[in-house]
Amino acid sequence: MEACFGPGGLLARGHENYEYRPGQLQMALAVEEAFRQRWHLMVEAGTGTGKTLAYLIPALSSGQRVVISTGTKNLQDQIYFKDVPFLAKLLGRPLRVCYMKGRANYLCRQKVYDLESQPVLHGLEEVEQFAEIRAWERLTETGDRAELAGLPEDSALWPKLDARRETCTGQKCPSFDRCFLTKMHQRALESDLIIVNHHLFFADLAVREREYASILPDYGAVIFDEAHEMEEVASTYFGLALSTWRLEEFCRDAEQMLRLKQRMTKPLHRAIQRLAEQTHLFFSLFPAPEGRFGFEDREQFLERNFEAYSGFQNALLALETELNVLAEKPEEVHTLLRRLAELREDFTFLLESRDKRFVFWYERRNRGVFLQATPIDVSPILYERLFEPVDTIVLTSATLAVGGNFDFAKARLGVRRTRELVLEPHFDYQEQALLYLPQGLPDPNTAEFTAAAAEEVLRILELSRGRAFVLFTSFQQMRQIFERVQGKVRYPLLLQGTAPKRALLEQFQSPANAGAVLFATASFWQGVDVPGEQLSCVIVDRLPFAVPSDPVVKARVEGLREVGGNPFYDYQVPDAVIALKQGFGRLIRSRTDRGVLALLDGRIQTRNYGKVFLESLPPYRMTRQRADVERFFLDG
Ligand code: SF4
Repeated sequence: MEACFGPGGLLARGHENYEYRPGQLQMALAVEEAFRQRWHLMVEAGTGTGKTLAYLIPALSSGQRVVISTGTKNLQDQIYFKDVPFLAKLLGRPLRVCYMKGRANYLCRQKVYDLESQPVLHGLEEVEQFAEIRAWERLTETGDRAELAGLPEDSALWPKLDARRETCTGQKCPSFDRCFLTKMHQRALESDLIIVNHHLFFADLAVREREYASILPDYGAVIFDEAHEMEEVASTYFGLALSTWRLEEFCRDAEQMLRLKQRMTKPLHRAIQRLAEQTHLFFSLFPAPEGRFGFEDREQFLERNFEAYSGFQNALLALETELNVLAEKPEEVHTLLRRLAELREDFTFLLESRDKRFVFWYERRNRGVFLQATPIDVSPILYERLFEPVDTIVLTSATLAVGGNFDFAKARLGVRRTRELVLEPHFDYQEQALLYLPQGLPDPNTAEFTAAAAEEVLRILELSRGRAFVLFTSFQQMRQIFERVQGKVRYPLLLQGTAPKRALLEQFQSPANAGAVLFATASFWQGVDVPGEQLSCVIVDRLPFAVPSDPVVKARVEGLREVGGNPFYDYQVPDAVIALKQGFGRLIRSRTDRGVLALLDGRIQTRNYGKVFLESLPPYRMTRQRADVERFFLDG
């Protein structure tokens, strides 16, 4: 590894801008050792360490099939389209690497052939899109829809043609050998590295027991980058969900398939319609306000709404009966029957199960209602299915440690035996960043806070000449402060929700919007990379504690209390520490970046837990004086 990462090493010779980074070499050595000794390893490697190369090179030399799982698609793309070609050139040999996305990104060949012989398309747009996809199907090697640049994101045709698991007939499909997924699976079998994201990885892990459903081949090691996102994603896939969308999609698939296979009968059509009606009726029983709510009173709910509940169950059963009486059943009908059985099973579990390991809740979002069962503690599942059976696992992120250790991540994820490494930051935070903690602001839980915070934001923006992200933990607070600031600054103001995320970021960076200020919440706290002067200040309104009334957070807090833990210090504080590190991490993205971080929440200075936050942040220079902020920007 020294010969590769060391001063004057292979990387330095292969890249003119390469700089020797001791932390990168240290990480590469630790990852190499983890492969050799079959260890688990956790590494916190701050921005600028060059951590992707620090695990890719040892992974490639390990002689094992390694899965690399990332939190975001951006990082997945960066590894596959930038780092891998760079390494192939550097090493002077082609690398065996496979890029995998979720099944819905790929074309189902069989659906294309079926649709061609029995067109059931709606409107000219679908007809044109189908012609384009049909022509592309003959040429493409991968079947990945990303190659279809002209296909709109919200194409109504694509869901009729994608390779979702629910509609796939697997080995019984006549196109199985030529299927893009079969080919991808074969490519993965011949690869040394398989690059996926956490969603695909955990979706696969959750169904791995059922052999037909698994898409990843066996692997000897896994590297999780952006590992701080694992718990949330794993909880989704080891939980259960039933939504209006899932039911509507099922009804659409059933209609389309039965027509295509010329098996539609009047009773079947009526049964599908009845299911659609009962779905609507049942889900309309949930109160209208949007948000996430506990569903602890399921028993009373069932007593009150037994008719709608059994009406829905009966509609599922009636459709099953009608499908069963079909004389000749193509394989697709068996797939529908399997899905119906899963729907009934999930529905019964979500409404009737008393399994204490799950929290039951629902969410109303846009037009949809989602019933959910989420594991309260995903760590035993991950231990049993992942950390115990897989010899080498590396978890890394720029934000994984709290107070210099990994106790929190280990407890949440079920990591039991692991080596640990917290790398020294690559950036000179003392020089590059100033953490400003204003004095005298009211407690963020009081009514006076909003007005005072807006005034402070105005003063800071004046000093920073705009060029800032103002990050919030709630939409309501974001809007209130935005309204108070609007019209009082001479820089363009951007507000989350007024345009898609990507468009807002483009506007923020556009020279036409010099000095722009973006007001945003959760989705901008991480995975956003704006290097350079355009982002010179990040203001955070309050410590990002998860909303305590959120049903999943509440259940986790209660779960920890029941086993004698201290949920505040064991869960809520460390969780907020990681979130704050992420938010502040938006500011310094390169060695030449400099700027001010401001936290308007005085509790970091006055409460005992404040020091956990301060000890966990990179070693920023710190001040309570606005004059220092002014000086910092003048010096810049
Ligand atoms: S195997 Fe499944 S995804 Fe592949 S072509 Fe056949 S039905 Fe479609």
